Amino acid sequence: MKAEQPNRQLIEALREQIRQKTIELAEAPAGVGLVPLRIACAMTSCQHGRHCLDHIRRPRGSDSATDRGYCRDCRQHVVDLPDQGGRRYGDVSEQIETCLDQQNELIRAHYWRVPIDLWALNRARRLGMQELRQRTAVRIQTALVTPGPFTGRTASYSGDAIAYAQHATATCCRRCAAYWHGFPVSADQVPTTPQVHHAITLAVAYLTLRLPDVPELGESGVPQIKSELRPSAREDAEADDLVFETLTNHGDPAGLLMPERTTLQLADTRSRILIARKMPMDQRGA
Ligand SMILES: [Zn+2]
Ligand SMILES: [Zn+2]
Repeated sequence: MKAEQPNRQLIEALREQIRQKTIELAEAPAGVGLVPLRIACAMTSCQHGRHCLDHIRRPRGSDSATDRGYCRDCRQHVVDLPDQGGRRYGDVSEQIETCLDQQNELIRAHYWRVPIDLWALNRARRLGMQELRQRTAVRIQTALVTPGPFTGRTASYSGDAIAYAQHATATCCRRCAAYWHGFPVSADQVPTTPQVHHAITLAVAYLTLRLPDVPELGESGVPQIKSELRPSAREDAEADDLVFETLTNHGDPAGLLMPERTTLQLADTRSRILIARKMPMDQRGA
């Protein structure tokens, strides 16, 4: 399946609508650079309008199962998520609506807004948009169509722009695609062509939105990030202080910062922030 070039006007309209949606959901979003790149799927921050709509995941403890479009934490109805029968795959307004609805789920909202790390950005620049679109189509086929017990669940959480697109648009694995896009839950069942096309279109729209400066054809001379750019232990500790200070000052009204239990994930984030700071300006790219 081929990924077509998205309509620029449509992408601009989508960009503005997502901006408005973000303002509506969280009056003061977390500062850029303080948002971690790794996040757990079932995390929620319901009071800030960031829920978890995965009704397929087994309920916790004494909780009963939730229905499509309901948050599994606060149990509120969040968005309408029709099953396969109620969908208009290929309809542009449905695609835009889905992107907007995704701002209500913590994991999606996070990937829709998190700064794309330097590894991912540089790799995208080396490939160019044309190649990225083709690879997105292939990646989504592999994640959502190829049958097997581990269908999907291979998208990394950083270092790769296509993986960002997959997590944001719920095209990362069969389960996310099942509750967001009405894909069959069972990995043995093959999704339809319009369904797969819908998934690819959303992921490509994401890449077009988030990587406006990546040229159509790959760039040469994009710097490789070397190990000496990695932060020292002292810089690590300073970054920790900064993140925790932000948390204790309630500096994250959007609820997108990682709780402290995830030391490893914070470490992953801050090394990227610090590398971005250490890299000479002319090598940072966009
Ligand atoms: Zn909730
Ligand atoms: Zn997933």
